Amino acid sequence: MFGPSANQKLLVVGSVAFDDIDGPFGWHRDQLGGSASFIARSAAYFTGQASVVAVVGEAFPQAHLDSLAAAGVDVSGIEKKAGDTFHWVGRYSSDLASRETLDTRLGVFADFAPKLHPQHIDAQLVFLGNIHPALQLEVVRQVKQPRFVAADSMNFWISGQREQLVALLGKVHALLINDEEARQLAGEHNLRKAASAILGMGPSSVIIKRGDAGALLFHRDGTFAMPALVLDDVKDPTGAGDSFAGGFMGYLAYTGKDDLATMRRAMVVGSVMASFAVQQFSVAGLVGLNAEAVRSRVHQFSELMRFDGVEL
Ligand code: AMP
Repeated sequence: MFGPSANQKLLVVGSVAFDDIDGPFGWHRDQLGGSASFIARSAAYFTGQASVVAVVGEAFPQAHLDSLAAAGVDVSGIEKKAGDTFHWVGRYSSDLASRETLDTRLGVFADFAPKLHPQHIDAQLVFLGNIHPALQLEVVRQVKQPRFVAADSMNFWISGQREQLVALLGKVHALLINDEEARQLAGEHNLRKAASAILGMGPSSVIIKRGDAGALLFHRDGTFAMPALVLDDVKDPTGAGDSFAGGFMGYLAYTGKDDLATMRRAMVVGSVMASFAVQQFSVAGLVGLNAEAVRSRVHQFSELMRFDGVEL
């Protein structure tokens, strides 16, 4: 979409799900969701070589898979198994700033064992969506020589599978989590200290997502702060973090680089993709974008963040 690209291979492992969401706009049921759905859709704008490894139930509509494939994503690693597709039920507060999980029906996701095909194991980039850290570790072991591996996690694994999660952190380049999770993982209230503690566990970067307050990149060589766009039509924050991750990883695949300057730009691209995602339910905000729309949002960010000559 953007002209010459390194077009590196990105492997995404995560959930493909149905979501029932309640909030200020009422119930929206059976929405296509799951971390991998958002990550892959978002990343596919920047690399023509994104693959998903996930599991869905036998009745999962083929149309959803066809639509993802039409966006350029390799869906051959999405396994259909007897049983129900993972189903998440959540409710947002009236200001959309927080959410609670009302129900998690794992279905076939309960015994998800990611099976990588030959075309997955030579991926240069790997994104491990929020699944059991032992499975995330298993995926890292199967990929031959990844250039950059990033992982998401959540409070459930931080408290319940800490040892495995810490083992995983020794094998990844970046961890993407929200501020509450960073504090919980590090046992430290101050975010900067929490980030330093997490860097000490192995990764060279920690990206801390802060919802409509933006995101922070803590890298061994420096720190970068990214605001969120101030939008007047936010409908559904579900998948914002995953869309961010997709844009971030997609940009690393697009450039073929992962130095700090590139990662700062990747933070911008991730934030642009998250801004599209939250304006509609499910993955609708990520469908049918073009280069011009993405460039225009990058420009809005640079205007939002620009200031000159503070002369004192
Ligand atoms: P995000 O808003 O970026 O945190 O991602 C929300 C997506 O994560 C939803 O579409 C859910 O289907 C999915 N999700 C919620 N809980 C879990 C879980 N325990 N494991 C895997 N995916 C989940």
